[in-house]
Amino acid sequence: MTQFKAPIPVDHHLHTNVTIDSDSTIDDHVKRAKRIGLSTICITNHISFMDPGYWISQSELRKLKEAADIETAKGDVEVLVGLEADYFEDRAGFIRRQLEEYDREIDGKLSIVLGSIHWIPLNPSSNDPVERGQEILFNGDYHFMRYLADTPPQDIIDRYFRKQIAMIKNKRYDGSPLVDVLSHPDVFTKNFVKYYGKGVVEPEQYKDHIEEVCEMIVERGIGMEVNMGCVRRDLEDGQPSELFLKTYMKYCKAMGVRPTITVGSDIHNKRDFTEEIDKAMYEKVMQRLSACGVEEVAVFRNREPEYIEVSGQGK
Ligand SMILES: [Zn+2]
Ligand SMILES: [Zn+2]
Repeated sequence: MTQFKAPIPVDHHLHTNVTIDSDSTIDDHVKRAKRIGLSTICITNHISFMDPGYWISQSELRKLKEAADIETAKGDVEVLVGLEADYFEDRAGFIRRQLEEYDREIDGKLSIVLGSIHWIPLNPSSNDPVERGQEILFNGDYHFMRYLADTPPQDIIDRYFRKQIAMIKNKRYDGSPLVDVLSHPDVFTKNFVKYYGKGVVEPEQYKDHIEEVCEMIVERGIGMEVNMGCVRRDLEDGQPSELFLKTYMKYCKAMGVRPTITVGSDIHNKRDFTEEIDKAMYEKVMQRLSACGVEEVAVFRNREPEYIEVSGQGK
């Protein structure tokens, strides 16, 4: 049996055990990269200023960067270090400052900041400001079941996109966008499929949100991630859905902007380091890119994209 080789040489979204949702190490990721022929990987750990369990510290980031540089120097696999940042509106200034400090901690060598929404407000219409500020980790099983199982999906979707738009609008001190790429832009589909079943909530139902987000990110120069985690989560569509990615491409074309798309597996755990999973993920992503007319993917170094042609297109 011939060994599987990845058709895209970069994996831009990986986690290590500095946060509670991961048990893997930089070493595990480098081994996989060598096995499937990746030339560049990027470790993007969570920085979610709501729960210390999902929050890499500055010193952990520095250690990770040192380990990444040692691996890169060996010459086989380039290891970049980025962050997967959550966004909380009432902490916008703090998050902006922190992201700058984290970048300084590794001498301005942060590869990328992925912008993710994993938390949504619990009581957004409460009159009490403390209650209004409460957020829950909605894409975790426990919290979803406990707090959102009876909430209409459309309501969750509206809260989610309201946050995503606020994150998109936020800026760094120099005026550039706070985040470089929108990560798993419709991640809520994961729990919808799990608890309501497939086909109950379709992208068409939140088409207006998709249009608004895509127009805004293209205008502001924020890219989009194609997250391969949907394969491991048994989602037929999603992260982003075909409609989402096509809409992004539509606005790029209309505005004459070069599409900036990163591809990442979002692997957290040792159980996911299998050839079978890699095969399934890359097959799916090549189909998705091809269906949406994506011809190149981006790799970010120092928060600037460079582009690589996608060859093969799944054929
Ligand atoms: Zn995520
Ligand atoms: Zn992630």
